[in-house]
Amino acid sequence: MIAAIQRRSSQGVQVRDLLIGAGAPIIVQSMTTTDTRDVDKTVAQIERLEKAGCELIRVAVLNLDAARCLSQIKARIGIPLVADIHFDYRLALEAIRQGVDKLRLNPGNITQQAKIEQVTQAAQATGIPIRVGVNSGSLAKDILIKYEGATPEAMVESALREIEILEGQNFRNIIISLKSTDVRVMIESYRLIAAQVKYPLHLGVTEAGSGATGVARSALGIGTLLEEGIGDTLRCSLTGDPLPEVKLAYDILGALGLRWRGVQFVSCPTCGRIGIGLERIVAQAQELLAEVETPLKVSLIGCVVNGIGEAGHADYGLVGHNGFVVLYRGGQAVARVAEAEAAGALAQLIKEDESTVTS
Ligand code: SF4
Repeated sequence: MIAAIQRRSSQGVQVRDLLIGAGAPIIVQSMTTTDTRDVDKTVAQIERLEKAGCELIRVAVLNLDAARCLSQIKARIGIPLVADIHFDYRLALEAIRQGVDKLRLNPGNITQQAKIEQVTQAAQATGIPIRVGVNSGSLAKDILIKYEGATPEAMVESALREIEILEGQNFRNIIISLKSTDVRVMIESYRLIAAQVKYPLHLGVTEAGSGATGVARSALGIGTLLEEGIGDTLRCSLTGDPLPEVKLAYDILGALGLRWRGVQFVSCPTCGRIGIGLERIVAQAQELLAEVETPLKVSLIGCVVNGIGEAGHADYGLVGHNGFVVLYRGGQAVARVAEAEAAGALAQLIKEDESTVTS
């Protein structure tokens, strides 16, 4: 039996009704790709993300016009809203006035102590947390010179320098991220800071890329740290539509047994032994079961070599034979159906069970 992952002990930070750290479930975040000034589009995207399981949403605050839209956006969404601030501390002050639930400040591009203190006091007065969000692409020049590049030590110093200013204002409502494009630098940065502070950590590989590259880099960086017990919240930064980021975040958490949402599919790669069109059945099953939120494991296996064993490890299973499949529930065979009806019959079985449980 594999032991459960021992999570690093961290201080709890409240973002409205959401607890981050202190052993709370690891929170899944994303970021909108819309122009924040387009309130309708931004809200529509957030609604899609929320439906997929996003629990905290960040929006870019490019200028004062964008900042002034934040209260309208917040009024129309169900999850806490985070303002992403770079360069201009006045955008942070306006975002706070607009009622955002959390700020992200980049220590690399708002560097003047008096300005950071002003933002900190305003955050303190409204009770919202600040994420000290270090990014390898925007470290302060003096730090880059001192460490000869965006090394793990440089990332950590950037965060600690800002934290010192915040703590100097008696502000401890802090979350930290140290995102690098280099997976190994990112991992080492988080390991270093995890040993030095109690604040909760927001994990991410910045600019991870698109498609399989982005998935691999995110899963390696975030997954390695989570497996070590490090990390209280995360965002997978993939190029394009943010919806896949949320799915990937749950896939990473599910693979490590930390958190499940919806159906986790197990399916075989297929080989010359196969007697059914498994690829099509998997695609259909994924589509038909996309709305299921209950954590379930479903195995879809092409033949009896591994199929019956995997069905025994899953909540539901499907095993192919020549032109038909056998459906399993809790490791027991419950039906034999034609291949063409396989995905539909499996989805119906699961949905009927779900409605029995919930009714
Ligand atoms: S489960 Fe069967 S069909 Fe799938 S890869 Fe293994 S041997 Fe091939």
